[in-house]
Amino acid sequence: MAAFDDPAFDDHERVVFCRDATTGLKAIIAIHSTALGPAAGGCRLWSYESDDAALHDVLRLSQGMSYKNAMAGLEFGGGKAVIIKTTDFDGSEALYEKFGEFVDKLNGEYITAEDVGMSVSIMEMVARRTKHVTGLPRKDGQAGGDPSPKTAFGVFKGIEAAVKFKLDRADVSGQTVSVQGVGNVGYHLCRYLAGAGAKLIVADIDEGRVKRVCDEFGANSAPLDEILSQDADVLAPCALGAVLNKQSIPNLKVSIVAGGANNQLETDADGQRLTDAGILYAPDYVINGGGIINVACEYAGDVEDADVDDLVAAIGPRLTEIFQEATNSGKPTNVIADAHARKLIAAAG
Ligand code: NAD
Repeated sequence: MAAFDDPAFDDHERVVFCRDATTGLKAIIAIHSTALGPAAGGCRLWSYESDDAALHDVLRLSQGMSYKNAMAGLEFGGGKAVIIKTTDFDGSEALYEKFGEFVDKLNGEYITAEDVGMSVSIMEMVARRTKHVTGLPRKDGQAGGDPSPKTAFGVFKGIEAAVKFKLDRADVSGQTVSVQGVGNVGYHLCRYLAGAGAKLIVADIDEGRVKRVCDEFGANSAPLDEILSQDADVLAPCALGAVLNKQSIPNLKVSIVAGGANNQLETDADGQRLTDAGILYAPDYVINGGGIINVACEYAGDVEDADVDDLVAAIGPRLTEIFQEATNSGKPTNVIADAHARKLIAAAG
């Protein structure tokens, strides 16, 4: 594995390879930066083509968390973990407890939470071995629990801001939004959008999830390979990363891309491609910061859930500032956001 040569290595402070033969655990914890505070970011459970692919993913996600936490105004650095689903993966309690032990050995330098493939009940197993874990069941009215609804709320506020900026519309009512991936984040995003009168087109590899949003929110479904080229006002990628690239961008038929998925741009140049195509892109790590804001409030303790919503809603105005600066400077929105994030981290470091 060529960690140092990976383009996403970007001077990571520490990368920990975690292996336990008894439980079959194979995981990587990446700590990109602790300049602003302990490195916080979720753990993804995924089946990768190779260990190198897992390493690349965790490095990219971890770097993204540094930027996300900085832009959300949190006193957190950036880190991320992946648990690699091997062919004999059994998802036992002992395996998740072992992962908790590895997290604990970092003495709070890394704080974990849910990402794709994880759940509140898994985080409870992890929490048996470490206190550096969030996304646990919450007490009534308090911050905590599954961060996905808060992520979705932030994405919804971001879509509202984008629609206002690009289309001069007061709200999303009557607007068509295509949503790729209706899992934890995508489902709740559909709930907010449908509640505000938007029309939905959805796709997911899990047909049951598609049926649920069609039944509950009156969404229409699209074939998996056509969701990115739907004629809509907004495309909200809420599945995996790298969906915006030189192949997909020429086929987009939307004015705005604003969704919850991490690392939506395959390369930085894809931000320029979107700008050239006249499409307003909401930088992923800014619009999807609601979950980590929730995590930060849970970790701090004693924060009311309603106060979390106020903090998450600030994602809308934050994006508007980025959109305005991008328009004024002629630079892509991802370039503007990256520059702000790096400046904040450098000032702290
Ligand atoms: P999830 O696993 O609950 O949902 C992802 C959904 O995408 C699943 O239903 C899956 O079947 C679907 N999917 C996968 N590949 C697909 C494809 N090619 N086409 C269509 N659907 C596909 O995960 P989630 O927690 O909802 O996270 C979704 C995205 O948002 C991820 O990129 C994640 O990193 C990001 N994110 C999540 C949170 C959070 O709070 N959960 C926070 C920030 C960012």
